[in-house]
Amino acid sequence: MADCIFCGIVEGSVPSDKVYEDDSVLAFRDINPAAPVHVLIIPKKHVPSLLDAEEEPELMGKVIAAASKVAKELGLAENGFRLVNNCGKHGLQTVYHIHFHLIGGRQLSWPPG
Ligand code: C5P
Repeated sequence: MADCIFCGIVEGSVPSDKVYEDDSVLAFRDINPAAPVHVLIIPKKHVPSLLDAEEEPELMGKVIAAASKVAKELGLAENGFRLVNNCGKHGLQTVYHIHFHLIGGRQLSWPPG
């Protein structure tokens, strides 16, 4: 079993509620949703955080493109949504496999805490 929980989701040893998958990207519902729609978009390849994204520009482009596709497929295009990355200690990143939170389905507030 993978050391990384999201690598475990990619390989199938950890269950998840998948909403999108292609060769490079996976999207699944967050187990602790913060909104009616709360999906995590991840590259299948283990990239620890946004600090490592500089080395993976093509892959990160695919992740963002998948977020756009999933947002539309889940009905978020009309009213909008938020795409969030938490990075490091101050960003409250808890899983060190880069992921983008796609959050929508209700009115969000700003700024975040
Ligand atoms: O950005 P951060 O690292 O804090 O977010 C990790 C997210 O991964 C949390 O929202 C948590 O609910 C989610 N998670 C999940 N499935 C798991 C483990 C964590 O959806 N098996």
